[in-house]
Amino acid sequence: MPDDLRFGWELSGHGWATYRIADGSAEGVDCVSYCTDALADLLYGVAGLYGPSPVQRFSFDLEPAEVRWVLRRRDRDVDIRLHRFADMSTSLDLPDREGRLCWGSTQSRSALGHAVLAAAQAVWRDNGEEGYRERWGEHPFPVAAVQDLRRLHRRDDACPLEHDPLP
Ligand SMILES: [Zn+2]
Repeated sequence: MPDDLRFGWELSGHGWATYRIADGSAEGVDCVSYCTDALADLLYGVAGLYGPSPVQRFSFDLEPAEVRWVLRRRDRDVDIRLHRFADMSTSLDLPDREGRLCWGSTQSRSALGHAVLAAAQAVWRDNGEEGYRERWGEHPFPVAAVQDLRRLHRRDDACPLEHDPLP
């Protein structure tokens, strides 16, 4: 299976970030609000795939919609499923199947870890610590989460790609 995953994260306006996730067949795009520490949740969710728990879930607040990421590890691969619910104030307790599946793909953990790490490092490069805080508005740039994922990815994935130095 080719690792054709592409992922980007961009601070798109005060308190908003736009991410794009795509494989060879489809792209998902969402604008995420600063009501949650979204980039940290993403990084810690992906880092969780290197631990004993086979499923990681976290939700982004699109005000009012919820996009729930469900990451399910199968050996060296990860099933990625993005479920969309109309209203986050009432949907957090609903089961995944009640959300509309808006994007899905199976990728190697290495490809996912690498793509998310590289996207977060690009955010750091483009904005810096102060710029991030100013533009995102609420939470500091998640340095510890980036370092954590970088350590796990480099230790466990045997990734052949180049890696940026730590922020
Ligand atoms: Zn890598």
